[in-house]
Amino acid sequence: MKKYNFTAGPCILDRSVIENTAKAILDFNGMGLSIAEISHRSKEFQAVIDEAEALAKELLDIPEGYSVLFLGGGASLEFCMIPYNFLVKKAAYLNTGVWAKKAMKEAKLFGEVVEVASSADANYTFIPKGWTVPTDVDYLHITTNNTIYGTEIREDLDVPVRLIADMSSDIFSRPIDVSKYDAIYAGAQKNLSMAGVTIVIVKNDALGRVERQIPTMLDYRTHVEKGSMFNTPPVVPIYTAMENMRWIKAQGGVKAMQKLAKQRAEIVYNEIDRNKLFHGTVETEDRSYMNICFVLNDEYKELEKDFFDFATSKGMVGIKGHRSVGGFRASCYNAQTIEGCEALVACMKEYEAKH
Ligand SMILES: *Cc1c(COP(=O)(O)O)cnc(C)c1O
Repeated sequence: MKKYNFTAGPCILDRSVIENTAKAILDFNGMGLSIAEISHRSKEFQAVIDEAEALAKELLDIPEGYSVLFLGGGASLEFCMIPYNFLVKKAAYLNTGVWAKKAMKEAKLFGEVVEVASSADANYTFIPKGWTVPTDVDYLHITTNNTIYGTEIREDLDVPVRLIADMSSDIFSRPIDVSKYDAIYAGAQKNLSMAGVTIVIVKNDALGRVERQIPTMLDYRTHVEKGSMFNTPPVVPIYTAMENMRWIKAQGGVKAMQKLAKQRAEIVYNEIDRNKLFHGTVETEDRSYMNICFVLNDEYKELEKDFFDFATSKGMVGIKGHRSVGGFRASCYNAQTIEGCEALVACMKEYEAKH
């Protein structure tokens, strides 16, 4: 049976990206060696990381003066590297979920943290609006897509301070005005690659403002100077990222990804809104295109496990909601297909007919 992968992360990648990675693992560029066993300092791997960087710059239209880094440690390490490198005295954070809170927790180790707004009291079912940022903060940190709750900020905010964003679960799903940000980071395993690499886009002249001593590996300047090659980078995940960016480019770039994301989301949300068994969990205007969260209506609550098993029997993989929301979550990252979304909808319709 065909499987449709709706897992929240690590997640679906296009089959061609997986196949090309598999080929490179067996025999890279006809060298008779695996990409996993060649030197990261070889000219062959240098070409990979150079192409990955060039593709990221092209796809996101990254202006001059920014560096693209491929680091280890996941987005979670960036929660600490960001304040280490940018927080002088005080930083502002928009609290839109668990990941935002984790980022705040690390920042508190380095200075004062102002929570500009929070939707915690409503279990993060909306993106707070109408807040202001104190102008004396070193930066404002936002999480553009809240993977667990299914809310998303799909615009590049205009704020009077430096802007930093965790885009782990929606990077490369829409065009971004990079010039509005001092730093953007994303663990790769949602929209870019397999787990193991983190992409960081950083404005070079925003670095070097803090006076504290920064350990070498945690200092962005180290990685800017060494082109992400200060130490051995995650070679295979970088290769997969490069393959995936080639794929994104071949599909028509991030504009095409954005169009597809909207189409997929409409297909699934329309069914959630129509189907008598289900309802969405977040404010309609803040609905994420990437993580579509829904639950059974109260009168059908006891069917939760049964629907999950039914959907699984139809080939749906990974639709269980995060434990802090419950219900279901259909993650629709870049490689998710319209066919997959239609299969999920068909499954929801069939289940409704049985009840
Ligand atoms: C998954 C996720 C993270 C954590 O990423 P790791 O690479 O596992 O550290 C951080 N932020 C967001 C928005 C995420 O979705």
